[in-house]
Amino acid sequence: MTATSLRTSETELGRKRRARRIGRLLTETHPDAHCELDHANPLELAVATILSAQCTDKRVNEVTPKLFARYPTAADYAAADRTELEELIRPTGFFRNKTDSLIKLGQALVERHDGRVPGRLADLVTLPGIGRKTANVILGNAFGVPGITVDTHFQRLVRRWGWTTETDPVKIEHAIGALFEKRDWTMLSHRIIFHGRRVCHARKPACGACTLAALCPSYGTGPTEPAPAAKLLKGPRARDLAAAAGVDPDLVPVQAVVAEAP
Ligand code: SF4
Repeated sequence: MTATSLRTSETELGRKRRARRIGRLLTETHPDAHCELDHANPLELAVATILSAQCTDKRVNEVTPKLFARYPTAADYAAADRTELEELIRPTGFFRNKTDSLIKLGQALVERHDGRVPGRLADLVTLPGIGRKTANVILGNAFGVPGITVDTHFQRLVRRWGWTTETDPVKIEHAIGALFEKRDWTMLSHRIIFHGRRVCHARKPACGACTLAALCPSYGTGPTEPAPAAKLLKGPRARDLAAAAGVDPDLVPVQAVVAEAP
């Protein structure tokens, strides 16, 4: 059954049941799923998330130890020397805009929130550099408030699975939120993003080495033969991912195991 035919024939209850089965398989497939931006508090996560725009999490994690040591508080960002801050975050790209956001974020936190990152969506989205996606990342991972993170991977995968036909991120967030228990939202988001980075890639998904193949209406978007599919798996658990899908782990090339999941 294709994603298009599913949209017309599947009942709402049927979709919810299938979504939850996929959700359970994702839990088994990615036991290591977590927020891939290193952080120790809400401010660090807010800063790392701003830096992650158009940049890999790995690159952000290379920059942040020095940054967090130099600017431990919101007041430090508010009073930052622009040139020095730009130099520190330059490797993450778009460093002038990001510097602007970090200084303005620091100022807004000092002026309106006593220098602390607020724990409410309504407050977070009013802060410079923080949109709804970033706010949900912060809520889910720094405050333990369930949040759905609709990034590019999330949008692509939920569409491939026929979970929703919405294209607007906020509508997608509400549609997926209705399929799952609220308490599962944050980890579900991590697992979907993990699957998008390691298995279900934008151009060539590893369908022939995917644990979700039997439940996925988009199976066949990428190669279905084990050997070419296994070559597409990425990340340190690429061999485990192959085995979980019933594919010989030896088909996974060594470079896949060390490759950075984008
Ligand atoms: S079967 Fe293919 S399209 Fe479906 S989730 Fe797996 S990799 Fe993605």
